[in-house]
Amino acid sequence: MLSFTGNPLNRASAQRADDAWIAAQRQAGRFLPFWQMKPLAAEVTSGAGRRRAKAGFLPWQAEWEGRTTIFLGLDGAQALFAVDLGKDEPAPQLAGEFHDMRAAAFILSKRDTAIAGQAKALLDWHARHGFCPNCGQATETKDGGYRRLCPACGAEHFPRTDPVVIMLPIFGDECLVGRNVRFVNGLFSAFAGFVEPGETLEEAVKRELKEEAALAVARVRYSRSQPWPFPSSLMLGCYAEALSKDFTIDGSEIAEARWVRKDQARRWLKEEVLDEMRVPAVIAIAHHLIRDWVEG
Ligand SMILES: [Zn+2]
Repeated sequence: MLSFTGNPLNRASAQRADDAWIAAQRQAGRFLPFWQMKPLAAEVTSGAGRRRAKAGFLPWQAEWEGRTTIFLGLDGAQALFAVDLGKDEPAPQLAGEFHDMRAAAFILSKRDTAIAGQAKALLDWHARHGFCPNCGQATETKDGGYRRLCPACGAEHFPRTDPVVIMLPIFGDECLVGRNVRFVNGLFSAFAGFVEPGETLEEAVKRELKEEAALAVARVRYSRSQPWPFPSSLMLGCYAEALSKDFTIDGSEIAEARWVRKDQARRWLKEEVLDEMRVPAVIAIAHHLIRDWVEG
């Protein structure tokens, strides 16, 4: 299963609009603290070559009063929340360690990663949307954190999810992977870009490949998606049938691109580095687009 997918919580979208219901849930709620947008990892252990931890849910603490708190959902009858403990002050002393969300995805279970990812995306959005883009007034949190309301002009603002296409061009028995200019350590990955207003997924895939690699593609096939809370993307994994192997990298976004045969990609996934190309991390959908293609 892909990291950040498979969130098991009941988001109770009908009930969370009721402030009294949210207040009652908070009484016995469990809260996942974030500091510098890093979730608290508890019971961190090392063994058999890897670290493991649980999402560090805690009972409410009086000193958190006034902090942004959002309702995540119900785990059975248990209400779960997340609380933002800021970024400028020293790390709060709590039982556990604050881990960068990417690092946490490697040590938490898939379930806890999905829940922490939901929390991270929401808290991050609230941290950046305290003021009304319509009139500039401070806005208020509603619906347990799924809406902000401007008391001055009445405008409502909803947490965003930004669609990003991420695609693997295929020609015969080969796929094209690229090294972004921002990637260090020789990481080669699928191509990606934000879907722009007025575009379908297919059109976004074709435009991005044309812009970044001057690669012409025919059919685009959607594969699967992944929430990616950095800060609020939804990665839409696709395959694109290339019309030829001819490409020209743009040099500004993509520094280098290479066609990789299926047998090479199989070895690449196993050995993680092939001809100085590092494979995408297992938590990223790009890794699974390559793996699905190799195995399919
Ligand atoms: Zn306003």
